[in-house]
Amino acid sequence: MPLEIICLGTELLTGETLNTNLQFLGSELDPLGIEIFESVTIPDEPDRTREAILRAFERGHTVITVGGLGPTQDDMTRDIVAETLGDKLHINSELSDHIRGIYQKNVGHTNPQAWERQASFPEKAIPLFNHVGTAPGMWYDDGIRRIAMLPGPPNELKPMFRQKLLPILTPLHPPQFTRESLAIFGLPESKVEHELMIALKPYPGVEPAFCIKRGKCHVRLTVKAGEAAILAAAVAATRSHFGYRIQGLEQTLAGVLIDLLKDNGQTLGTIESCTGGGIGAALTGVAGSSAVYMGGFVTYSNEMKMKLAGVKQETLAEYGAVSSQTAIEMVEGAAKALEVDACIAVTGIAGPGGGTPEKPVGTVHIATYFLGKTVETNYHYPFEREDMRKRTADKALSQLREQIEKVLGYG
Ligand code: ATP
Repeated sequence: MPLEIICLGTELLTGETLNTNLQFLGSELDPLGIEIFESVTIPDEPDRTREAILRAFERGHTVITVGGLGPTQDDMTRDIVAETLGDKLHINSELSDHIRGIYQKNVGHTNPQAWERQASFPEKAIPLFNHVGTAPGMWYDDGIRRIAMLPGPPNELKPMFRQKLLPILTPLHPPQFTRESLAIFGLPESKVEHELMIALKPYPGVEPAFCIKRGKCHVRLTVKAGEAAILAAAVAATRSHFGYRIQGLEQTLAGVLIDLLKDNGQTLGTIESCTGGGIGAALTGVAGSSAVYMGGFVTYSNEMKMKLAGVKQETLAEYGAVSSQTAIEMVEGAAKALEVDACIAVTGIAGPGGGTPEKPVGTVHIATYFLGKTVETNYHYPFEREDMRKRTADKALSQLREQIEKVLGYG
């Protein structure tokens, strides 16, 4: 029986609060092979909440509601759930004592209306104690309808879900599928799909799905529960097909580059203009990067490009700061000054101002250097400033990795 999750709260639809509870519940249920059939997010409107719960009951699905269990009049979930079940709210005295204790201890005052409201549940409901806040959760199962209510604050929902609700749910929801995800670096999504179809040809029961992350493609392989051996064989075939392009799921572009250079005992430097240190930040974010990354320059002005990397004044005057020639002089000058085996240079126009018809906002030149050879490319990323800077950093890290892989004879 699949699950449906109903997230309640106007603030989830106004952009005020990010629905992290849905992400949490998905990340807990997916590895157990429990399918979330659907999730809806509903503003604080009783009619719409009622409608969503009844619709899920009609489909015969287990329902989890999130939020609206507080003590105030607008926290309506308990009342609506009781109504849809055709039941009345009854005060649970054990819960009432528990909540009163929390109010006395934490809030310093007692408000019988608040704790009586929060301790009221349909008669057949099992309370799920909340050891963090005041709002208890609930589980109800009459053999036909199954519904759980969880509180909205993530620090209350998480322990209640793991400790109280999951032990009830798992026996009722045997695994329906098994999945495994792999991260593939350095290939566009369409190429990944094409190659994957070849690798998976002997395994027609394996369902692939793709998700593009920063500079890498996550591939998710799914089989029906009980077919773990088929999944293992398909994963092994995929690994062998893609070879060195498969890295750990948590691995970043900067991490892959650092590992590659570390394996060969080589060093790396950077010289950045429009990314303002973003590439250096990504590299130093990798644990153990100090063995490889020697440091870098942030040369935002022409003066610094000349002073620190030896870019010629004539080059800047003739071609401009955002040009192939400048990028090449930056990377070669910085590699020399930093005495490194590999180096990355970027120079571009992040916007929103500063563009011209010949060099519109989003123009970027990337030069990479490895053991005496330089590669220079240019792109047009007409995105918002921050997106343009991230995309430039990702592209630059990928470009150097590909250059090194070619020199070292990978692929
Ligand atoms: P209480 O009223 O006791 O705090 P509650 O169950 O009534 O608990 P809500 O009032 O709906 O919960 O929400 C409480 C807090 O939790 C709010 O700050 C809300 O934005 C946040 N919250 C609710 N739902 C989510 C969600 N899906 N993801 C992240 N935060 C959420």
